[in-house]
Amino acid sequence: SIKDIRRNSFSYYEQVMSDRVIERMSLAEMLREAVDNGEFELYYQPKINLKDGMVVGAEALLRWHSRDGMVPPDRFIPIAEQTGLILPIGEWVLLQACEQAHIWRQEYPEFHMGVNLSPAQFDLDYLPRLVADILKEAQLPAEALELEITEGMIIEDIDNTVQILRSLRDLGVEISIDDFGTGYSSLSYLTRLPLDILKIDRSFMFEVPDSRDSTNVVLSILALARSLNLKVTAEGVETEDHVTLLHDHRCTYIQGYFCSRPLPVAEFEEFMRHRQCRCANCEGITWFSQ
Ligand code: C2E
Ligand code: MG
Ligand code: MG
Ligand code: MG
Repeated sequence: SIKDIRRNSFSYYEQVMSDRVIERMSLAEMLREAVDNGEFELYYQPKINLKDGMVVGAEALLRWHSRDGMVPPDRFIPIAEQTGLILPIGEWVLLQACEQAHIWRQEYPEFHMGVNLSPAQFDLDYLPRLVADILKEAQLPAEALELEITEGMIIEDIDNTVQILRSLRDLGVEISIDDFGTGYSSLSYLTRLPLDILKIDRSFMFEVPDSRDSTNVVLSILALARSLNLKVTAEGVETEDHVTLLHDHRCTYIQGYFCSRPLPVAEFEEFMRHRQCRCANCEGITWFSQ
């Protein structure tokens, strides 16, 4: 009967829910231990300057090698945020990334490092001092650090955001808006905030050039950034078509599988030895000079 079906589907629903709750609980517990057990590792994805094809730096991306295998950030970062564990994890990320940038700057003096911030870290009193302390500890000049925030962090409280960004900018770090174009905020904040870079969300790139709309969004972001005097990083750059379009419209930096996936330290160093992107895809692209 309908009743049985309802009951069954309800208990199925309950079962799925409780599986999820259990998974979340155990993930949270595993996360708690992961910090102490050193189960985290940073991977580094090269950022390429579109003018000359040179590697200008990297984005640090967190990887968790749990007992049960690799857990992707999209699965554990939300839990780390809900449990507050993102604070110690985020601190570890920031210090680790800055120390690595310091090492790489011995060989590549211009090298710069992008680090993702999560909403919980975006606290007025705490963050600028923390960043200053970490830069000092890592002996990294502030201009070598780019902090990536998302639109969601801005709309919460624009005045507060202006203050936090000002004090971060006063240190000398660069600020970028990650996943730009996916948020729901009004664009008016762009003129009020001290910003350096817009990062075009990868979901738009994936539909370029097949979707006219997504292509137009990408071109609009590039035009908007130019009029506001901001640099642009395109992420999710996977094809030669992407590169050509972005190059023709004077995008500043590209980041994506076209150049390289995020790499562990040793592999990143191997990549850096060429200083220029020489992956199978890039070879033969004329604008990668010499
Ligand atoms: P994100 O900051 O937007 O990072 C870019 C993501 O796009 C990375 O995913 C990267 O591996 C992926 N990606 C780069 N190029 C391509 C491409 O050409 N094709 C495709 N399909 N993907 C590409 P990842 O490493 O899985 O990270 C996902 C998200 O997790 C990040 O998005 C960021 O929001 C968050 N995240 C990663 N590390 C950290 C961290 O240390 N702290 C915080 N708060 N969030 C982090
Ligand atoms: Mg990012
Ligand atoms: Mg992004
Ligand atoms: Mg993201």
